[in-house]
Amino acid sequence: MSVIPTRADLAALPAYVPGRTVPGAIKLASNEVPGGPLPSVADAIARASADINRYPDMGAWELVRRLATQFGVSESEVAVGCGSVSLCQQFVQALCAPGDEVVFAWRSFEAYPIVTQVGNATPVRVPLTDSHRHDLDAMLAAITPRTRVVFVCNPNNPTGTAVRRDELTAFLDRVPEDVLVVLDEAYREFVTDPDVPDGMEFAPARRNVAVLRTFSKAYGLAGLRVGYAVAAEEVIEAVRKVYVAFSVNALAQTAALASLDARDELLARCDDLVRERTRVYDALREQNYAAPETLANFVWLPLGERAVAFAEHAMEHKVVVRPFAGDGVRVTIGTPEENTIFLEAARTFAG
Ligand code: PMP
Repeated sequence: MSVIPTRADLAALPAYVPGRTVPGAIKLASNEVPGGPLPSVADAIARASADINRYPDMGAWELVRRLATQFGVSESEVAVGCGSVSLCQQFVQALCAPGDEVVFAWRSFEAYPIVTQVGNATPVRVPLTDSHRHDLDAMLAAITPRTRVVFVCNPNNPTGTAVRRDELTAFLDRVPEDVLVVLDEAYREFVTDPDVPDGMEFAPARRNVAVLRTFSKAYGLAGLRVGYAVAAEEVIEAVRKVYVAFSVNALAQTAALASLDARDELLARCDDLVRERTRVYDALREQNYAAPETLANFVWLPLGERAVAFAEHAMEHKVVVRPFAGDGVRVTIGTPEENTIFLEAARTFAG
């Protein structure tokens, strides 16, 4: 029997490691919000399920229209995707020829090198500064004539650090206009510092800036997979060309619309999480952890070689966190009770 030859370069692809779910343990590993769906959202999903013998609206037009109205842009400047990770991949597929380069900070969102390589492009990782922040000067210096896309994750996953308005503006002013800067704002709703800009201040007015958001985090729909991008019309048109047909399912579209209806209630839940973030962060600093300031729904513990041992210790307390071997541990903010159990695990870590 012959063996089907597959793409040789896929063997070198880093694996996407999702946060683990362990029965009976508290999961603080995937930056999800702790609360389940609001009754209004659950009802809308139940109603929509009556029609799932039909294909969904492929362009998710009702959702596109709602988002366009919310952000004061045109429908041709909004695309909805199967999670924002799908849109990351679509940006690469839509803009990169084989061998083109995609620049991003490292460490940052794990999917960037994967979607880049899947798209036959070359990842260019630019180390974070010693204070776990984007090094925008070094990222500028990393741009070559082959660079097509730059991802700026703001706030950054997994460090929680954020780029401020003045530094981002200066950066965008200097990026060549044929390079697309994707401002990945998956955690935007948890940002409390007014000096951290809303990406919509730049896109779509700047034609080489795209903003990426998701319903997975603040809106609590991680299991349904829906995200969106706002960018110039020509970018959105290209992104739509590389859709997997019907990839944004009908229940996801309905749930996203119902979540926008319940926006105030959902954002109030984010306020509660932000208060807990402050409590957890302050307690960790008091315990002498060198956590950098965070503006997302997680904290970063730069434990280096002790990262995996910390995660194992947390597991003994029945708390699942997300270690990055040799680098650090990311811990999602959960309910007050969950956070208190986690803090006790942190306090008793001797490693
Ligand atoms: N961007 C960042 C920075 C993320 O952390 C994540 C999820 N971990 C995503 C995008 C993708 O989220 P989703 O596909 O669920 O929208």
